[in-house]
Amino acid sequence: MLSVKSIPAFNDNYIWLIHNNHNHCVVVDPGDATPVLECIKEHDFILDAILITHHHHDHIGGVPELVRQFPNVNVVGPENEPIPTLTHPVGDGDFVELFDEQFMVLGVPGHTNGHVAYIGDEKLFCGDALFSAGCGRLFEGTAEQMFNSLQKMAALPDETEVYCAHEYTASNLAFALAVEPDNDYLLRYREKVLHLRAHGKSTIPSTLQREKLINPFLRTSEANVKKSVASKVQDSTEVEIFTALRRWKDEF
Ligand SMILES: [Zn+2]
Repeated sequence: MLSVKSIPAFNDNYIWLIHNNHNHCVVVDPGDATPVLECIKEHDFILDAILITHHHHDHIGGVPELVRQFPNVNVVGPENEPIPTLTHPVGDGDFVELFDEQFMVLGVPGHTNGHVAYIGDEKLFCGDALFSAGCGRLFEGTAEQMFNSLQKMAALPDETEVYCAHEYTASNLAFALAVEPDNDYLLRYREKVLHLRAHGKSTIPSTLQREKLINPFLRTSEANVKKSVASKVQDSTEVEIFTALRRWKDEF
C-alpha cells in the first residue's frame, strides 16, 4: 500500500503527495510549488512524477517551478488539454505505474473536456470531477458527459478512497440536505463534518461507499432525489435528474 499526504494550497485546494517507503514521491495537481517544495524538503523526498487531472491553473500552476527544480520529473496528464509541460500525455484506459502499483487513467469529461482521474491501490484521484457530496461545475462539457463520468467512478469498488482536489464538503452537504432533508445518514454525517471543520480538520479522503449515501449526484436513481426535482424536469431519466440537480446547485 502507498501512503498519501495532503498538502493544503490556496483557500481550499488539496495537493496530494503519494509516497513509498523509500522517500520517492509523486504529486497530484500541484497548483502551487511552494508548499510542495516545503513538504519535499521536510521529508527528504525525491520527486519522481507529477500527475495532472485537468488544465485549470489551480491544478498546474506549480508545475514549471517543480520541473525547474527536478528536471527529470515525469509529467503525466490528459492528452487533450492545453498543458505545455507534459512528458507523458495519457487518455482513458492508459496505465501509469507508480511504485509497482498500476494506476488506470479514467477519462471523466464534464468539468473540462479532457479531464482524467487516476485509480490504483484502491485510491481514486479525481481532481474536480467528483467531490465529497458534490461534483465539479460544467465549464466545458455537457451534463450527460459529467453524468457518465460520475457513473464510471461510482462503478469502482465501494472501499475506494476518494481523493478530490477541494475541501467543499460542508457547503456541498448543505445542498445535499436541501435535496434530501430527511436523509438520516446525511444529517448525521453533516454533524461529523461540521465538527471536523470546526477543528480545522480535513474531510478528505472520502470513500465511494460513503459518497453513494451522501452525494446527490450519485443518487439520481433514488426516489427522494427524483421527487426533489420533479417540478424541474420534463421526464425522469437519470440524466435529466442529474441535469436539474446540477443547475439547481449552480444557483444554490
Ligand atoms: Zn477545475
